[in-house]
Amino acid sequence: MPRSIIFLLLVLLTALPASAQDAVLHAGRLLAIPGESDLTEQTIVIKDGRIAAVVPGYVSAAQAGAPGAEVVDLRAHTVMPGFMDMHTHLTGERDPEANPHDWTTKMDGDLLLESLPFLERTLMAGFTTVRNTGANHEIILPLKRAVNAGLIPGPRIIAAAGGITPTGGHGERQGYREDILEAVNNSVGVCDGADDCRRAARALVKRGADWIKITATGGVLSNTNAGLGQQLMDDELEAIVQAAASMGRKVAAHAHQANGINAALRAGVASIEHGSYADDESVRLFQETGAYLVPTLFAGVYLQEEMPLNDNIPPPVVDKINEVIPNVKASFQRALAGGVNIAFGTDCGVCPHGQNAREFELMVDYGMPPIDAIRSATVMTARLLERSDDLGTVEAGKIADLVAVRGDPTADISLLRSVSFVMKDGKVYKSP
Ligand SMILES: [Zn+2]
Repeated sequence: MPRSIIFLLLVLLTALPASAQDAVLHAGRLLAIPGESDLTEQTIVIKDGRIAAVVPGYVSAAQAGAPGAEVVDLRAHTVMPGFMDMHTHLTGERDPEANPHDWTTKMDGDLLLESLPFLERTLMAGFTTVRNTGANHEIILPLKRAVNAGLIPGPRIIAAAGGITPTGGHGERQGYREDILEAVNNSVGVCDGADDCRRAARALVKRGADWIKITATGGVLSNTNAGLGQQLMDDELEAIVQAAASMGRKVAAHAHQANGINAALRAGVASIEHGSYADDESVRLFQETGAYLVPTLFAGVYLQEEMPLNDNIPPPVVDKINEVIPNVKASFQRALAGGVNIAFGTDCGVCPHGQNAREFELMVDYGMPPIDAIRSATVMTARLLERSDDLGTVEAGKIADLVAVRGDPTADISLLRSVSFVMKDGKVYKSP
């Protein structure tokens, strides 16, 4: 065999992901289906990256039919399905110390490399799957592929690969000279009118979007005083949802004020992100459509914590933070009382990556039972993603995404900040 071919084979072999080793986990407590199945003293058998069986009692590797499998002692732990965050921005992170114009000097390669620790921190915090709701597609899609190929540690990424916004809307960069804005806002996702918005949805699918993210209303962090109300019109929303559905994609709608939340729900979006001013009509529409609320409570609380530390937040953004934050808790509680489907999501990137579990504490503080908060990040997120066949519970046949914490997180939800075991696709990333 020619030397060059041998070299090429060696390169290819070393680039292959480390294969997941078969494992047998002894779980002191197992929230197999959070909110439905709460077991003690179980053995979870992992083969070829999937859960082969869940059997009562502590069974040896040989007895479990997996001789040679690694035995992991989690008898003092609560084992759960891997957590899933439905709203991340993995390609950046707010830094109150940074020059706010830094982005003008950075290449995509800089941003890609800077993102690597964000992915790792997210995974090590127990988040084995994320839906990334908007990012430069030249960065997020290579990251997603590198994770899938086992080249870098990170969560499984469901990528929106950009987003849809009207001209001047929340999804466009704001606050610079018009010629600069023209240069940076040339995204295929900017659309005006139903036909143009159909084009935008199709262009994002063509680009590689797994989901379509839209900004139905104004947003807090755009440097404009254009408010937080509906920005994409009813016909534009309907056109986007229909065009996305015709290509097998669902739509996640960023929305703050009720007119935008309700218009997006009527148009048939699958999830409302933030939902800060959800009203009684919103609750009725959530129930009627089965859509999910992704509350992102942590992002709002983080911005409140950051404000006194950061002199560079533009005045329109300060005004909007002050305007929106007082409404968030009541909206969440209205949705909770109304039985709305709630799927866990943080908006990290706004808040620091790896601290995603703080969202659990806020949900519980605002009245959600701890087990339902855990369910919102497992069973409910798998349903929203239509991945319940593979993800979201610890049952035979599912992908082996598992996390564990010492102690009882249903008694103290803050324990979820200190995940001590993380397995994804059957591979152990963090051991107790
Ligand atoms: Zn966001």
